Order: sequence, then C-alpha cells, then structure tokens
Amino acid sequence: MTQARPGQRAVVLGAGMVGIACALSLRQRSMDVTVLDPLGPGAATSHGNAGVLARSSLMPFNHPGLWAQLPALLRGKNPGFRYHLPWVLGQWRWGLSFLGHARAADFQETTTALDALIRHSGTVHRRWMAEAGIAHRRRDDGWLFLYRSEAAFDSGAFGRETLARFGVATRVLDAAALHELEPHLKPMFPRALWVQDASSVDSPGEVVRSYAAWLQALGGAVRTDEATGLHRHSGGWTVHTRSGTPLEADHVVVALGPWSRDFLRGQFGLRLPMGFERGQHRHFHPAEGTALCRPVYDTAGGYVLAPMAQGLRLTTGVELNAQFAPPHQAQLEVAERTAREAMPLGDRTSDPDWLGSRPTMPDCRPMIGECPGQEALWLALGHQHIGFSTGPGTGELLAQLMLGEPSAIDPHPFRPQRFLRA
Ligand SMILES: Cc1cc2nc3c(=O)[nH]c(=O)nc-3n(C[C@H](O)[C@H](O)[C@H](O)COP(=O)(O)OP(=O)(O)OC[C@H]3O[C@@H](n4cnc5c(N)ncnc54)[C@H](O)[C@@H]3O)c2cc1C
Repeated sequence: MTQARPGQRAVVLGAGMVGIACALSLRQRSMDVTVLDPLGPGAATSHGNAGVLARSSLMPFNHPGLWAQLPALLRGKNPGFRYHLPWVLGQWRWGLSFLGHARAADFQETTTALDALIRHSGTVHRRWMAEAGIAHRRRDDGWLFLYRSEAAFDSGAFGRETLARFGVATRVLDAAALHELEPHLKPMFPRALWVQDASSVDSPGEVVRSYAAWLQALGGAVRTDEATGLHRHSGGWTVHTRSGTPLEADHVVVALGPWSRDFLRGQFGLRLPMGFERGQHRHFHPAEGTALCRPVYDTAGGYVLAPMAQGLRLTTGVELNAQFAPPHQAQLEVAERTAREAMPLGDRTSDPDWLGSRPTMPDCRPMIGECPGQEALWLALGHQHIGFSTGPGTGELLAQLMLGEPSAIDPHPFRPQRFLRA
C-alpha cells in the first residue's frame, strides 16, 4: 500500500456524497485536497436519492430468498423491479456473480460488513452535519415499510429476523398505530414495520453542497471541471482535465459513482464488475391539509415516498439497464399510480423528473482501498442503494487506509482485490 502523508496533494474525482466525504476526511488529516466534478457538488446520484439513512439498509438485494423470488421478478410481477433484457444478457457475468452472492455465507459477510459501515457512517454524518451547520436538515424519526396484506407482512419475516439479529430497533405496527404515526396515509395497510434506527434528510443534494462548502472553509478546493485522463510519472499523478488545466497529485481518489466503470476501463483497461440499478424520482406538492412525517416504502408498490424541501419525492425501485439508455416512463407512472392509492398527492411540482443509476458490485459491497497495480490510486465506489448514507464512513475508512491509521471498521470486505487484479 502506498502510504499518504499530511501535506501531500490528493485529487478526488467526483463530487457526489462519496467524493466529498473522502475529501473532507483527507482534509481533516491535513492533506492538500482538490475535488473535480463537471457538474459541481451533489448534482448527480447524490442529488436524486430518497435521503434515507437507515440501519435496515444492511439487507442487500441479493439475499438468500432471491432465488425463490426470481421467477416472479423475471415475469415482471413486481413493480419495484424491471429490466432491459438485451442489456442484462450483455452483463451476464455481473448478473451471475450477483446471483451467486445470494448464498447464505456471502449474505452473512455482506450484512456484517454493511452493518459496520452504516453504523460508523451514521456517527460521522451526525457529527459532520452539526459541524457544517445543517443538523436541521435531518429527521431522526425512522422510516416505514408498509404492507398491503397480512400475507405480504408474513413474507417479510426473513428480513425482520435479520434486522433483529443485528439489533436494529424496529416496531411492528397495526393499522391504528400506523394511523397515529402517519395520519394522512390511506387506511389500506393492515401492517407496517417502523424502522426506528433510521434518519432522513430533506435534501440530499443540499447536504452534499453544504459539506462541500465546509470543505472549502477548511481549505479544500472544489473545481467545476472533468477529469479526462490520468498519467503516472515518477513524481506522482497528472490529472488531465476538460478545461485544459492539468492538476498534479501525489494521490488520486476515484469516486465517480456509476461513471467509475467506464472511466477505469478507459484509463487502465480495468474491467469493473459494476451493474446499474437505475431509479427515477418525481416531485409532488402535498395535497392540501396533508403531510408525511417520514419516508415510507410501500412494499407492494415498490416505491419510496419521502418528504423533501421540494415537496414529496417519489422514487422508483430498480431498473437494470445501461447508464445512459433513455428513461423508461412506465415504472415511474406505475409508482405514481400506486402512490396515489396510498396517499393523497397534489399536483407535480415544476421540477423535472430525474433518472440516476445506483452503482452496484456483485456482492453489494462498495470498493474502498488502493487500486491493484496502480500506485497511489485509490477507489471509493460501488455504493449501490446506500451511498448517501455510507459516504462519510467510506471517507473515513479510505483516509485511514491512505494514511496508515488503525481503521474504525474492518476494511477487508471492501478490498478492491476481490474483483480487480493488478
Ligand atoms: C432512486 C434512488 C434512490 C436512492 N435512495 C437512497 C437513499 O435513500 N439512501 C442512500 O444512502 N442512498 C440512496 N441511493 C443511492 C445513492 O444515491 C448512491 O449510492 C450515491 O449517491 C452514490 O454516490 P457517489 O458519490 O458514489 O456517486 P455520484 O453522486 O453519482 O457522484 C459521482 C460524480 O462523479 C462525477 N463525474 C463523472 N465523470 C467525471 C469525471 N470524468 N471527472 C470528474 N467528475 C466526474 C459526476 O458528475 C457525479 O457528480 C439511491 C439511488 C437512487 C438512484
């Protein structure tokens, strides 16, 4: 491992939650940090998400029950999942590896690793939000899984057992208890699970932008520019940019979210096994006299509805498709229809619909560590459904590895070597 030292120059590629968090952790250890992003901070995936920070997110999509659910998923029976067959067939290696990691042993390793990362990130997020002056953006009143029938609730037993095993605080609610918590949800859910070990924010993009402003106040730099090439030489790295002004660095961190795959392929010929779980959002004004206090996940509808500064944000489930394929409206339309069954929604706001890609490794664990075969090139990518919540823990772990500090959590499950060779 190529150790970094305080005072050395680090260039971070990508100003999403993960890149900004890495930059903050490095700057707090006195490194000279510059972040590059053509869109500016928090404008891509880290803008469009549902803003949930939840211990329940330790459950990956590829759990041991996935095989049994697969026939229904492939037949399009679940509104929270769709796929573009030609793209999926083209990604068969990723797909088989993703399914392979649904084995019980992998599930155990992944849930343990994600639990540690999520818990550590929760602590760091809380401290950073206070220090950045944005604690008011955070709600600590949990989130809700809604069930439209007793049978649907029963089918979630494995998930609840897993959460209980990790000590995640939850409470099962009947219709009356749910009504007390969220009086404006329609009375159509006989059961709900209240995940109490969860927070949410009212604007994920603003949180990232506030962290970026705090980074700048601490002496870090954020440049609106695109990295177009990396060149290794005896003195370190030259980062070539779209603007034509190169940057010199002792260390480079790749935190490009879903863009990481093409970037690493183009620069180094590395084949990153990353799938794209695309998702969309749409904003609504709340219907007059109604409010939602916390995010809700309608397990039958496959959508999340979350109160945001912009109104109510409806986010869709998963669409397996190419990162830049045109948006597919059907999933968003179904999500809107099913959400209107559950909650009175007002008109759409003037915000445009949004589409982004959750960048997912086959074992649903992010990659955090030095890139095999590339001295002083560090990776912080592949955060699937949980990158907004786990950015800060990732930043801390990466900085600890770079500077040779004892790490707060076990880095082994996140090592890039599990999928990349020198
Ligand atoms: C619908 C949906 C809902 C979600 N809900 C949640 C949730 O509730 N909670 C949660 O924790 N997570 C959630 N996620 C996941 C989360 O949003 C992502 O895991 C996270 O945002 C990834 O952050 P990132 O910094 O890695 O990537 P990004 O935020 O995508 O940042 C990567 C950045 O790299 C920049 N870039 C690209 N190319 C270059 C280049 N050549 N040079 C410089 N910069 C470049 C891009 O402009 C972009 O800003 C959700 C995702 C989706 C799609």
